[in-house]
Amino acid sequence: MTDTWNKRTRAVHAGTRRSQYGEVSEAIFLTQGFVYDSAEQAEVRFIETGPDEFIYARYGNPTVAMFEERIAALEGAEDAFATASGMAAVSGALTSMLKAGDRVVSSRALFGSCLYVLEEILTRYGVEVVFVDGTDLDQWKAAITPGTKAVFFESISNPTLEVIDIEAVSALAHAAEAKVLVDNVFATPVFSDAIAQGADVVIYSATKHIDGQGRTLGGVILGTREFIRKTVEPYMKHTGGSMSPFTAWIMLKGLETMDLRVRAQAKTAHVLAEEIKDHPALQHVIYPGLASHAQNDLIQRQMNGQGGTLLAFDLTGGQAAAFRFLNALRIAVISNNLGDAKSILTHPATTTHQRLPQDQKDVLGITPGLVRMSVGLEDSRDLIGDIRQALNAAEGD
Ligand SMILES: *Cc1c(COP(=O)(O)O)cnc(C)c1O
Repeated sequence: MTDTWNKRTRAVHAGTRRSQYGEVSEAIFLTQGFVYDSAEQAEVRFIETGPDEFIYARYGNPTVAMFEERIAALEGAEDAFATASGMAAVSGALTSMLKAGDRVVSSRALFGSCLYVLEEILTRYGVEVVFVDGTDLDQWKAAITPGTKAVFFESISNPTLEVIDIEAVSALAHAAEAKVLVDNVFATPVFSDAIAQGADVVIYSATKHIDGQGRTLGGVILGTREFIRKTVEPYMKHTGGSMSPFTAWIMLKGLETMDLRVRAQAKTAHVLAEEIKDHPALQHVIYPGLASHAQNDLIQRQMNGQGGTLLAFDLTGGQAAAFRFLNALRIAVISNNLGDAKSILTHPATTTHQRLPQDQKDVLGITPGLVRMSVGLEDSRDLIGDIRQALNAAEGD
């Protein structure tokens, strides 16, 4: 039935399970376990668990199942597994399918913890990891040799907002019989159709736009039923990275309003980018929705022209100017989450990407003056006024 529904209808209704009381708002089944009518029933359930049967919350729970079904319907995926955080999803998706001797090709521009998992953890277990410039198809082509097991990338990279061509990279990967895993956080489920474009596995940190109000950590892995139930689930349920029922309830309610929130945030982000792009305190403004973005053509094709809710800008005066700018903010806050109702600004070089040596920061474009902004739900006039006065303050010394 949900197949014929549009995304916004799925986000509100898909996956709902009602108890005998017929509640309208989804129930929180805050229980770790489930009672069996008989010893025989317990035995049968451990052999094969049916769709409305549960054993233990680490394996599955009705509230968590509602979230999994809803996000799978929204994303056009056969199935989903909900995890305790975005990083439990990234590490679980990769580790569950890889073994010593396997080869992974990944884009270099990654969220700090994703980079750590690939560079420091997988390699420790004998997985070969090769990094490429994700915007350069020739590098992907050269690196994805026959026998490559997985290809991993963030469809829009953090923090410099490079866009990776999902369709083109997937075609190269599939020619080598490699699975394509996409960390799709910046693209959001609202603007992205990653599975239709060729991704085999899509991963979200639900902490970001899905919760959308900065309350809790969560994540989700989406893919074929075979991959989710035969590869991901056994790994996740035995290693312990499952989502809690309370978190799943927050995420379910988050999905209901996500489309409205994300579209409003993206609209403000676009207006803000246009308004500040010629400000004298700035060297350049990066927003994938701007006609001047180097990959705007790809954004038109892959995201229907939508640039998302994040932008980045480089202050001419380097770190000192970036700090003056941040310290002058009156509405937007200095923090490091994204996708929140509150606008949040981050200085990647000294926080999220502090760990990286300077030469790696240079390769990734993480300059001393770079600031990343996650646009929230404030009135765009107030927000633009705030950013403008802080940029003016950054100019003075
Ligand atoms: C935040 C984020 C993660 C990790 O998510 P958590 O929920 O914080 O564990 C992974 N990838 C990207 C692109 C992110 O922005």
